[in-house]
Amino acid sequence: MNAQEVIEAEERYILRTYLRPAPVLERGEGMHLFDTEGQRYLDFAAGIAVAALGHSDPQWAAVVAKQAARLTHVSNLYYTAPQVELARRLVEASFADKVFFCNTGTEANEGAIKFARKFAASQGRPGRALVAFQGAFHGRTCGALSMTHKVAYREPFEPLLPEVRFAPFNDLEAAARVIDDGVCAVFVEPVQGEGGVRPATAEFLQGLRRLCDAHGALLVFDEVQCGLGRTGQLWAYQGYGVEPDLLTLAKPLAGGLPIGAILLRQAVAAEIGPGDHGSTFAAGPVVCAAACHVFDRVSEPDFLGRVAAAGERLRQGLTTALGEGATVRGRGLLVGVEVDRPVAPWIEAARQRGLLVISAGPNILRLCPPLIATDEDIDTAVEILATSWREVP
Ligand code: PLP
Repeated sequence: MNAQEVIEAEERYILRTYLRPAPVLERGEGMHLFDTEGQRYLDFAAGIAVAALGHSDPQWAAVVAKQAARLTHVSNLYYTAPQVELARRLVEASFADKVFFCNTGTEANEGAIKFARKFAASQGRPGRALVAFQGAFHGRTCGALSMTHKVAYREPFEPLLPEVRFAPFNDLEAAARVIDDGVCAVFVEPVQGEGGVRPATAEFLQGLRRLCDAHGALLVFDEVQCGLGRTGQLWAYQGYGVEPDLLTLAKPLAGGLPIGAILLRQAVAAEIGPGDHGSTFAAGPVVCAAACHVFDRVSEPDFLGRVAAAGERLRQGLTTALGEGATVRGRGLLVGVEVDRPVAPWIEAARQRGLLVISAGPNILRLCPPLIATDEDIDTAVEILATSWREVP
């Protein structure tokens, strides 16, 4: 099929829930994607912060091919070794004692809601309310959607979960007004992604920890977008001096294959038993072999140091190149640029010049490249963004 045929067939056969730009992507190599016309793009979107090792990394692809040729799927009714090897890595490198595997970010948050409720019930606590924050994005299935702040995403599907309380992000006093003994869990992204690339302050997350402890609520960090190396630390929470009770994880973990995970403390894990939750596909041998490979490379101190340095270079480069009209923020290689007008024309102009970037709200550009971005890639992206910024109205 040529590009036009793909676009026409999509219109004919696929439910229209996405608005996509014209190129039909066909192949990836490291930091680059290629379309059916042979046009090359420098990818600063990474499939929405997923492709941590870039596209079609040869070692990653070899691990996937080898495991696929050996064993792909048996369901969670049976033991398989790659799943255990991945769980061991996640537990040994984090605050957690146990892992539950699923397939996506929204599923991870969905599971965290169930675990928080069962934990509250097991402690004889009456409260089942959930707290989330303005700008939060936790997913699109009904539980996670109930805690996703954007009204347009939620309203058509109401009624959703009852008793979800939203408070302004980074406002501890406001949080204190909604966190009481009726709350079983507080969900927060240490760096909000979809909501505009907004890092939490240390005071905010530390204050949430104190409020949760005071009221017996669980603190859940949603690191689906900001976790696993993206901030330049393995876990975003490590930059804040505060640990959660549960942590949800997904996007980059298997380097492009679908996986989600919930990391749990023992106190919560102890209350969850066989039959409480499950998934047919979760953490099959191929996806876990891939994830072990991603984890081993991303968790190397040199790799993480390089992400931190790359992020610094990207933020400084953008601040210098774009000047006063733009506010640059973020952590590591999760960077947002807020401007005073819609960014859609800017994104299109950058694409015409061979750079893929995405938005995080109408007037916020989001840069979340593969974590392997070199200084040269970063300088190229900054140059294209500066040039295309001058071209757009
Ligand atoms: N949580 C956060 C912080 C996210 O950024 C996303 C997706 O963008 C999700 C949850 C949902 O993940 P998924 O799209 O894999 O369901």
